[in-house]
Amino acid sequence: MSKNFKVGIDYGGTKIEGILMDDEGNEILRKRSTYEKNYENGIDTVKSLIEEFDSYTNSVNTVGVCIPGFSSKETGLVNNANCVWINDRPFHKDLERSLNRDIKLMNDANCFALSEAIDGSGANYQSVWGIIIGSGFGGSFVYKKKVIEGINQVAGDWGHQPLPYPTQEEYELNPKCEVGNCGRPLCAEQFISGIGFTKIFNSKYGTNFRTREIVALEANGDERAKKEFELYEDRFARLISVMIGIIDPDVIVIGGGMSNVARIYENVPKLLPKYTFSDKIRNKILRNTHGDSSGVRGAAWLWDSDKF
Ligand SMILES: [Zn+2]
Repeated sequence: MSKNFKVGIDYGGTKIEGILMDDEGNEILRKRSTYEKNYENGIDTVKSLIEEFDSYTNSVNTVGVCIPGFSSKETGLVNNANCVWINDRPFHKDLERSLNRDIKLMNDANCFALSEAIDGSGANYQSVWGIIIGSGFGGSFVYKKKVIEGINQVAGDWGHQPLPYPTQEEYELNPKCEVGNCGRPLCAEQFISGIGFTKIFNSKYGTNFRTREIVALEANGDERAKKEFELYEDRFARLISVMIGIIDPDVIVIGGGMSNVARIYENVPKLLPKYTFSDKIRNKILRNTHGDSSGVRGAAWLWDSDKF
């Protein structure tokens, strides 16, 4: 085979997924493995996926891995991962030792943004801010196809900042954030994540719906759902406006479960002028292209970021 291939690994809390991609971003193979939730078995599982891809291409391929946490550039140890068994461990170094080659390791939200910036919804733009809204809420910034990590490796990740311009109702709701070391009043994630939105809805109306049921209610004209989505969009617009005031990205690409709520793309841009210090809002807000595959694709692209 004359082509160059690259391997991306998405190391998740319950499964590890790998893809083999060619230089044009075409997916050649995809494998998914469950594993025992412990450090050693995780490393062995990654290793066997990579060996399978290498033997398919009969070459030693580049490997990028994304994790739901951060590998500290200062200490080499992982922190803030929800698969807690890799926290405080030298995961990057141990993986390299086990595979006997250099690998690149990156936070999964960063890989999402990189994937969308390279050949997804942000492909035609210089600056791409990726936002993932699922059970959590966070983001990442990519400029000219390179992840801008920041000195603390949290650039773009403003999910646990306070909600701007809070209303009286939001002050009173003030849902408590129990994530890691947050616990901050008016933590944005508690209002914007799918879980946060649904919790607010259920406690307000005494219901027990799941997020997708509220989305369906709204589609059927339910007044409560309509009102809550209007409030949601206004909160989201306030948060985006803060980021526009700082990095003013060409495009904002949304991923995660809430990215499937179509009305966000129509309504949030209309609200931005209320909160943004600009005569006209040129930033695009787009749905992702690669869906759940963006993390693993971004990981595979990690070695190529310098080529663009
Ligand atoms: Zn928080």
